[in-house]
Amino acid sequence: MNPEKPLRTEVLGIPVDCVTMQGAVDFAERLIEEGSKGNYILAVNPEKVMVLLKDEALRAAFAGAALLIPDGIGVVWAMRRLKGLASVRVPGSELMPKLCELAALKGYGVFLYGSKEEVNEGAANILASRYPGLRIVGRANGYLTAEEMPGLVRQINDSGAEILFVALGSPKQEEWILRWLPKLNVKVCQGIGGTLDTIVGTVKRAPPIFCRLGLEWFYRLVTDPRRAKRQAVLPVFAWKVLREKMLR
Ligand code: UDP
Repeated sequence: MNPEKPLRTEVLGIPVDCVTMQGAVDFAERLIEEGSKGNYILAVNPEKVMVLLKDEALRAAFAGAALLIPDGIGVVWAMRRLKGLASVRVPGSELMPKLCELAALKGYGVFLYGSKEEVNEGAANILASRYPGLRIVGRANGYLTAEEMPGLVRQINDSGAEILFVALGSPKQEEWILRWLPKLNVKVCQGIGGTLDTIVGTVKRAPPIFCRLGLEWFYRLVTDPRRAKRQAVLPVFAWKVLREKMLR
């Protein structure tokens, strides 16, 4: 198996890959099998596009990713409208368990870094029982100090993990990956935001009907008003996409 690197395109100048869920899993497997280090997967959604437009350092972190999944429906819509690509949504919170499934099948070691201690531990237990054979070779909560980072790097390398999941939220996880991944021996690293919270159920994902209708963002907005500020950029994103389409 040698899946091609997915086609990289851009939305408002921000890179994103045209890939399906299976394509993302196959590509991650290829990266692991090739054995190279420093590969990371990040999720692109409209909120992140709006942040990236103003943050050059973070933009560089995204540009260096091995895989940029179209995590938000707004990005998929923009890829379709601006590029005519038959793009589909690949939520980071769904790719993560798929990679755990792959790891269980292939025997890859997995390390979970991030989220509160009880969330991290709870997610590790749930994943281990959901995917028999899954080797969670190490884990650490996301509230370690800067002084503890060299120890964490040692812990991850000593664990022999092939896959590292980093759940620090954005942009903290991308900054962490940029700073520390070069020192790690893992083959693939995915920034997973609040995925461990959704696994243990402290944060609920939208019911399937919202996901099917492309309205997961709306569900999160209504059920988590803290997010309202972040999502206030969504109409601006939509306007920018429509303006770019009109200007062409
Ligand atoms: N988090 C962490 N360390 C920090 C800040 C945040 O481990 O210093 C964790 C937090 O506990 C939560 C996740 O990062 O599990 C952030 O989730 P959120 O849904 O905000 O991430 P998003 O995917 O929206 O960026």
